[in-house]
Amino acid sequence: MKYIDLHTHSTASDGGDTPEEVVRKAKALNLAAVALTDHDTMDGHEAALTAGRDIGMKVIPGCELSSTFGNLRFHIVGLWVPRDNGPFNKMLADLREKRQDRNTRIIEKLRALGFDISLEEVVAESARSKTDGKVGSVGRPHIASVLTRKGYVRDNREAFDKYLKQGKKAWLPKEVLPTDEACHRLAEIGATVVLAHPFLEQKDGRPRPAEIDEAVARLVPHGLNAIEVLHPAHTPEDEKAALEIAARHWLLPSGGSDYHAAKKPDISLGTGKGTLAIPEDVLLKMEELRRSMGLPC
Ligand code: AMP
Ligand code: FE
Ligand code: FE
Ligand code: ZN
Repeated sequence: MKYIDLHTHSTASDGGDTPEEVVRKAKALNLAAVALTDHDTMDGHEAALTAGRDIGMKVIPGCELSSTFGNLRFHIVGLWVPRDNGPFNKMLADLREKRQDRNTRIIEKLRALGFDISLEEVVAESARSKTDGKVGSVGRPHIASVLTRKGYVRDNREAFDKYLKQGKKAWLPKEVLPTDEACHRLAEIGATVVLAHPFLEQKDGRPRPAEIDEAVARLVPHGLNAIEVLHPAHTPEDEKAALEIAARHWLLPSGGSDYHAAKKPDISLGTGKGTLAIPEDVLLKMEELRRSMGLPC
């Protein structure tokens, strides 16, 4: 059987590998397909698709949007996101600009705490990890990398735990879309819409299955197509609950490692913490759905 990975990040946002490297590694692992789903940006698509064509690797262009749903935060992954939609690209550019306002204010807080850090350094940190030198989707992971590089913390995890996590001194909320809008904006341009890692730990702990079920019921009318059942943060119980919720709402299961390369060293492409295995059938079912909706794959 062949396996796939429908959730990965590159240097276009907060991953450690370039888009080409993600695709090459997927090929080396003999995966049947890989989706590139960077936060708030599609800047990696061209390089990933080109690499995929060159080496014979199926690449699905996607992105991941953060969103807010009552007290919960959900990440919505779009798959087969078209790159040429003006209004959607404008929305992503606005989200990245809001990130930059927030980065500026987080850095002000860190400076008030006595750290020597500037926005220029953080932006350079994002560009440094990219081959084209362009600024990507910049956020807390890049701030954490600068703090680590300057020796203020041991590693990025400590930077988050001490300063950048929700509730810590340098934390600020990110302006995000309501979840129904995130779904709808992706659905209206023909993307396949996935609720990412629904049982990932949130501010008040792990969401309960009943909360996710209720959220899903409200998101289906806005274009939700699938639930990420297989994800490294999910326990076997979470997988079971996510699969049941998907079945109840006639949604497809999805799966991905949420690979960030060196930025999350415990997570491997394709296999997550070592045991993840997403059968190619997950992709075939999505493609079947897309064809039935008249959408390209
Ligand atoms: P931002 O979009 O700027 O809020 O940053 C969110 C990103 O930071 C996530 O996608 C993760 O890659 C990373 N992240 C979030 N929480 C942590 C944490 N506790 N430790 C390390 N990285 C984290
Ligand atoms: Fe990330
Ligand atoms: Fe996510
Ligand atoms: Zn992700």
